[in-house]
Formats: sequence, C-alpha cells, structure tokens
Amino acid sequence: MVRKIKNKKNQKQIQKDLDQKMGLFDELPEECLTCEEPFDRQNREQVMSWNVVVHKEAAIVRLYCPECWSKAKEVVKDFQKRVQEREQPHD
Ligand SMILES: [Zn+2]
Repeated sequence: MVRKIKNKKNQKQIQKDLDQKMGLFDELPEECLTCEEPFDRQNREQVMSWNVVVHKEAAIVRLYCPECWSKAKEVVKDFQKRVQEREQPHD
C-alpha cells in the first residue's frame, strides 16, 4: 500500500522533470555556444549528436556542436590529467 503510493508520487515527479526538460528544450540556443555553428532543432541528426548542458537552477541551457564538445572534453581530460599528475608525482 505504502509502496504503491510512493510509486505514484515518483511517477508524478518523473513527469514533472520531463515537463521541465521539455520546457528547457524550447530554450535551446540556435547555435553552438563556442563556434556559433547554427543548430537546427528540427534536424534529428543534430539533435542526437549535439550536446546540451542544462543548469536547471539558473535556467541556463548551453549548446555545443560535436566538434566543440570533443574539444571541451579534451580540455577537461587534460586538466584532470594535470591534477592527477600533481597529486601523484612521478619520481
Ligand atoms: Zn561548435
């Protein structure tokens, strides 16, 4: 009984989250944040391959084309590598 009620609540929460995400989908920028490559949200291929970073609290939606996204990932990877090297110095 209790479990049933809880599940119902979760379902509602999921729907709410989904609504919020769909709402933010409307806020999608029309171009890549970094290189300003135009983004066509009707283009399924672009929708699938581009990367969206949502900051829910600030209601900010950032959009990156695959090229810039992979560059950003490289930068993050490089940064993490440097941090790790600093934490575990090789003699
Ligand atoms: Zn780009």
